[in-house]
Amino acid sequence: MSDTVRDYQVIIVGAGFAGVAAAQRLAKERIRTLLIDRNNYQQFQPLLYQVATAQLAANDVAAPLRSLFRKHPSVRVLTAEVSSIDARDRSVTLPDGTVFRSDVLVISAGAEVNYFGTPGADEFSYPLYSVDDATALASSLVEQLDRADTAAATHGDCEPIDVVVVGGGPTGVETAGAIGETIERVLPHYFHDAVPRRCTVHLVDHGDTVLKPFSEKLQRYTRRSLERLGVVMLMGTGVSEVRADGVTLSDGSTLPAHVVVWAGGLKARSVVASAGLETGRGGRVDVDADLTAPGVPGVYVLGDAANIPDGSGGTLPQLGSVAMQSGKWAGRNIVADLTGGQRRPFGYVDKGFMAMIGRMSAVAEVGPKRIELTGPLAFASWLAVHAALLPQARARIGALASWPRDYLSRSRSQFVVGNRPR
Ligand SMILES: Cc1cc2nc3c(=O)[nH]c(=O)nc-3n(C[C@H](O)[C@H](O)[C@H](O)COP(=O)(O)OP(=O)(O)OC[C@H]3O[C@@H](n4cnc5c(N)ncnc54)[C@H](O)[C@@H]3O)c2cc1C
Repeated sequence: MSDTVRDYQVIIVGAGFAGVAAAQRLAKERIRTLLIDRNNYQQFQPLLYQVATAQLAANDVAAPLRSLFRKHPSVRVLTAEVSSIDARDRSVTLPDGTVFRSDVLVISAGAEVNYFGTPGADEFSYPLYSVDDATALASSLVEQLDRADTAAATHGDCEPIDVVVVGGGPTGVETAGAIGETIERVLPHYFHDAVPRRCTVHLVDHGDTVLKPFSEKLQRYTRRSLERLGVVMLMGTGVSEVRADGVTLSDGSTLPAHVVVWAGGLKARSVVASAGLETGRGGRVDVDADLTAPGVPGVYVLGDAANIPDGSGGTLPQLGSVAMQSGKWAGRNIVADLTGGQRRPFGYVDKGFMAMIGRMSAVAEVGPKRIELTGPLAFASWLAVHAALLPQARARIGALASWPRDYLSRSRSQFVVGNRPR
């Protein structure tokens, strides 16, 4: 085991929305920064469900980090797993024992799936937090469809295919909607006509409604839109166990399932817990208003790894816009730290939130006044916002080429790709 120590002014753990935004701000001041991520690309989580349903290719949602920083030699991109963090020492350790130490440490390692201890969930369900998760889910869905298509071609019919999506938040709604729409609009053009007839999507949630943070009107719209796509809504019940052939619900009843998607909760990445910082809700670090870890000088925690105060006693939600803005803001505060300036409390600009349901169907609450949009207007806003957020022109072009083909012509060129299922 080597025990190398290399010194950087700033180390950033995690190159998602928050880490990349912070590094871009530091690059402007030529601050020597080490940006570490287990992947050599920045993944765009909001579009993972489109990779899972063959709307986009994996490449469309993954921006190579070295390309993002090719004009910024002060930012060194390192592809490595960080096995532990020592916040008080402002150092990180790699699996081979290499230690990197810095003047300022930024923890922006994001979130991972939370199964809440549900038996079998880890083994038999698909989370949706990474490009690998999305391609594994895509492969599993395509494998089920191929199997059914072969049976239908040889026997004229096939066994049912049941998909269960656990969790009625934005990820669950977007995934259930995209699978429902694929069954309704796309499969008839690619598979034997028995296949779409035998596919069912179930959306299961503990609560009595989908999309909790949205208004009742938008929740009703979402529910109606999903039902129109054939999604069976099972509200007010949880999944208590996942098995290879189905799920058990909290009332003891069972549902058959060939594919289970787990969109039932998230928590901070496990490496955050290793840092020796006090953690709060969801394993996230309760940061001060200036995004630093309380009582630990020179350590920032951002995005999904942090509970960021919202200024009125609560915390900001785990959103791409929060992560990106917190990254930019932390970058500015770090420049202040290193140049003798004053850190400032994070000022979040609330642009609202939105969720896609299907073609011409989405919901959005826009801006701090929460202007409500549904239908084609919300759909168009969703496409515009997500295209603009994509980190790279190449990814933007890929998405802008795929969306019209998908939404107008029902074509899915990605149907055959993906890794083999787990
Ligand atoms: C399916 C899905 C859909 C979403 N849809 C939306 C949406 O429509 N709108 C919206 O605003 N938000 C959406 N979100 C939320 C948004 O994507 C997150 O809030 C945002 O990505 C958080 O950014 P982050 O930088 O904190 O973390 P991430 O983007 O998760 O980045 C963390 C990075 O850390 C790296 N990392 C983690 N652990 C290690 C380690 N030990 N070693 C090295 N690297 C590590 C990871 O590889 C990753 O690149 C969605 C999230 C998901 C999962």
